[in-house]
This record gives sequence, C-alpha cells and structure tokens, in this order.
Amino acid sequence: SEMTEHLARVTERPTVQSQPSFPTPYRSRPPAFDYQIIGAGFAGAVLAERLARGSGKKVIICDKREHIGGNAYDMHDAAGVLIHRYGPHIFHTNSADIFDYLSRFTEWRPYEHRVLASVGDKLLPMPINRQTLNALYGLRLAGEEEAAAFLAKIAEPVDVIRTSRDVVISQVGQDLYRKFFEGYTRKQWGLDPSELDKSVTSRVPTRTSTDDRYFLDRYQAMPLKGYTHMFGNMLDHPDITIELGVSYDDLSSEKLAAHTIYTGPIDQFFDFRYGALPYRSLEFRHETIDRMQFQPVAVVNYPSEDIPHTRITEYKHLTGQSHAKTSISYEYPCSEGDPYYPIPRPANQALYKKYEALAATRHDVSFIGRLGTYRYYNMDQVVGQALATYRKLEAVKEMAVA
Ligand code: FAD
Ligand code: UDP
Repeated sequence: SEMTEHLARVTERPTVQSQPSFPTPYRSRPPAFDYQIIGAGFAGAVLAERLARGSGKKVIICDKREHIGGNAYDMHDAAGVLIHRYGPHIFHTNSADIFDYLSRFTEWRPYEHRVLASVGDKLLPMPINRQTLNALYGLRLAGEEEAAAFLAKIAEPVDVIRTSRDVVISQVGQDLYRKFFEGYTRKQWGLDPSELDKSVTSRVPTRTSTDDRYFLDRYQAMPLKGYTHMFGNMLDHPDITIELGVSYDDLSSEKLAAHTIYTGPIDQFFDFRYGALPYRSLEFRHETIDRMQFQPVAVVNYPSEDIPHTRITEYKHLTGQSHAKTSISYEYPCSEGDPYYPIPRPANQALYKKYEALAATRHDVSFIGRLGTYRYYNMDQVVGQALATYRKLEAVKEMAVA
C-alpha cells in the first residue's frame, strides 16, 4: 500500500539527503512515529536518545542543516584539522547527572579553558583576576585582600544593579569597564551594555584570586573524538530515524507523529504572529595557517571597537590534536543570519512571554532548547532542560538517566 511504501522510504532513507518528498499517508492509519523532533542539536538529540533508548518510542528527528549536532557540530576541515563550524564550544557543568549522562556517549579529554584579552599591546587574562590587575597597572597585589581593596577603590557603587553596565561598573569601575567590556559588548550585541540584562556580563565575573580559568565548574572536558562523534553515538538506535537537510515545513503537512518536539526559533513556529524575536548572529571566517601554533591559548578576545572581530579561536588547543598546520576562526557579530544568541533584555523577554503563552496552548508540541525557549543557555543547561522534558513527557519517576 501507499502507507507501507511511505514507511519503507522514511525508515530506509540514507541519513544524508536534501530533497525530501513525503507522500501523504492515509488519515485512518496511526502515525508512523511516536514523536517527531525538529532540530538535531543538544535539545533534539537528547530527547531522541531518551525517548528511543529509555522508553522504546519510535522517533523521527530532522534538521534543516545537512548535519547533526546543531551549533556544537565539529568537523575536519580541508587540511584535516578538527574545527567547530559554529565557533568554540567548551563543555563545562557542575551537574554530575548531566556529565554522567553524556559520558554514556563519549570519552573525555580533560580541558580547562583559558582566555586572553588583547588590550593595548598586552594579552591579559580574562575574566579579570589579580594577575590581570598586576599586569595591566604594573601592581604587585599580593593576596585576595589586597586585590579586593584595590577593586573597592576603583569600583563605583550602583544603587540597583539592573544592566550589564551596572554589574561591571559596580565591580571594577570605568577604566576596566571600557578596556574589557564596553567595546566587546557593543560589537557582540550591537547594543550598549546599559541596554542588556545584567545576566550577560555576569557570565564573566571579576576575581581577586589568580585563578585564570574561564569557567570554575566541577566538570570541564571536551568530547575525546569531538561533538559530532558523540551525537552519532546518541542517535545510533534502530528506533531513531534521522532526516538531514529537511526542515519542519517539509514535514509539517504530514501527520508523522502525534507529538512534536520543536527546538527551532519559537517565533518562527508561530509565523511571527507577534513580530520577530531579535537574535544575534555571527559570521565565522575560518582559516588554516601553515604553522604549528597561532596564539598561546584557544581563545583571544579583542574588546577594542577599532577591531571588527570579537575573538579568534585556535581549535587545536581545545581538541589536543597534533598537526603540522593549525586552524583558526574569527567571529564577526551581525544582525542577519543564523539565530545564534537570544538577546537578553526586558522588551525581548516580554515578547517571548507572549509566544510562551501561545506555546502553552499547544499540548501536541513541546518547545525546548536555546531557540525554542529563547534562553541564553549553555550546552549543559540545554541537556538538563531536555532530560527534564523527557521526564515530564514520559512521566518517568526514577532519574531520567536511569
Ligand atoms: P541548536 O544547537 O541551535 O540546534 C537547533 C537545531 O535546530 C539547529 O541545528 C537548526 O538547524 C535546527 N532547526 C531550527 N529550525 C529548524 C526547522 N524549522 N526545521 C528543521 N531544523 C531546524 N555552550 C557551552 O556550553 N559552551 C560553549 O563554549 C559555547 N560556546 C558557544 C559559542 C557560540 C558561537 C554559540 C552560538 C553558542 C555557544 N554555546 C556554548 C551554546 C550552545 O551552542 C547551545 O547551548 C546549544 O548548542 C543549544 O542546543 P539546541 O539544541 O538548543 O540548539
Ligand atoms: N564580555 C566582554 N568582554 C570579554 C568577554 C565577555 O565584554 O572579553 C561580555 C560580552 O557582553 C559577552 C558576555 O560578556 O557577550 C558573555 O561572554 P561569554 O564569553 O560567556 O560569551 P559567549 O561565549 O556565550 O559568546
């Protein structure tokens, strides 16, 4: 029958293809899958894995891109260097559950991220720590107390800390604000820090210690063979059908499943009914250089507004790969392009709330992920959100990871 043929085509199709065409199944037949998942990034992949492996559900997962992994996708470039196509992704979490869950699909390479900021003619540790202060101002602050006393002198009290400017000014004052935060933030977001929620620059808090790690989380590591390899292991299950180069619009005329999990932009799902949610995009310029090393650490930030890029990443530091050449990427923020960042500020949150209320009326659809819930989430937070969604959907009483 047409339906049998349809099922055979859907389930046997190779995982990489670009021209989908599903015949309309007979309405009287039950849908072929229990869940259809839109987007094969962390949100979609964790749910596909849990629903299939954890609950025996039949799942179809599509992504409009030609690859799995979402923005965490990594690949070997023409020179054979493992790079992250959508910019540097460093895994860090304080959650043992999330780390253990992902550890089912990958081994790890211990890696602690360090970032230098290019200020004047110096490369200085970022977030600002005691070493940064000493190197920038030629000081010899010897301990945490001396550093705290110095910061207390230069900091400017702010009554109510509301914006990303308030956070920094109240911790370190004008000079460090201008040198490290103002230009970077204006470039990255196209907004002044005073126009952004405090949560944005709070991601990079100043310290009085000499700890120069970017993250302080308990677990910090990179997937040993890369993110894409890890996603491959997650999705490798007979009850998971993967459709790449297939967007939601290609699927949505079909009733493939009774329930949809949607991880794309929520405003797009509702045809921008209340207007478009603002997202910030980036243009990546990838380059391979014919020498072993380009810069001393994985990421160097360029806070000056005289320089168009925000940061340069050298991937071999992240992956530990040995190679005679090295590959780097420049990031140029822009407003048009793939939606990489929700923009945290009150007006946008208010608009998102309208879409969230609309989403709550759709019991046949779950919205999750960085774009589906318009939240500036790190990878581990998306994994945690997806595991919680799985527990809710399948009313799993024990630990999601059991
Ligand atoms: P995504 O990874 O964006 O996946 C969503 C997928 O849905 C995409 O592949 C998209 O193609 C697909 N899609 C969208 N709409 C449709 C549609 N209509 N039809 C079909 N498919 C669709 N996090 C960290 O923890 N550490 C880091 O160091 C870090 N660095 C980052 C650097 C950059 C430059 C960026 C942009 C993000 C970074 N992140 C980092 C955040 C991390 O990328 C996200 O938390 C995570 O990838 C979000 O997963 P997701 O599944 O929600 O979304
Ligand atoms: N930031 C900054 N200068 C820096 C690093 C960060 O002003 O050298 C600010 C900037 O607004 C940035 C935010 O802090 O967008 C969060 O930085 P993070 O490195 O977490 O950004 P992401 O990796 O998510 O792009």
